[in-house]
Amino acid sequence: MTMTCQTAQSSLLDLHFSTLDGAERDALEAHLGGCPGCVTQFLALKRACDEGERASAPSSAVAARVHRTAVLAMRASPSRWERPVALALAAMLTLVAMSAVGQLSHLPPRVVGH
Ligand SMILES: [Zn+2]
Repeated sequence: MTMTCQTAQSSLLDLHFSTLDGAERDALEAHLGGCPGCVTQFLALKRACDEGERASAPSSAVAARVHRTAVLAMRASPSRWERPVALALAAMLTLVAMSAVGQLSHLPPRVVGH
C-alpha cells in the first residue's frame, strides 16, 4: 500500500497521539521509512508538541494572539496552503494555549486594590 506525502503528513498528528489503527500506522511508518521529508515534518511536529507541553505560561494576550493566528491560518488555507501544515500549526497552538490556560488556573486570583 503506497501513501502520498500529503496523506502521510495529514496523519502525522494521529501517529504522534497514537490514534491510528494498526493498518494505517503500518502504512504511515512504511512511508516514513522511505521519505526523509515526512520524517522531518514528523520530528518537527513532535518537537512542537513537546515544547507546547513544556512551555512556560505565555501571557493571556499572547495566547489570544496565537489562537487568532491559528484561526486565520485555518481560514486562509484552502488546499493550496498545505492543510496538514495548517492543522499541525493549529494543533501546536492549541497545545500552547491549553498549557497557558492550565498554568493560569494555578495562579492565585488577581487581587485588585485592597
Ligand atoms: Zn512523504
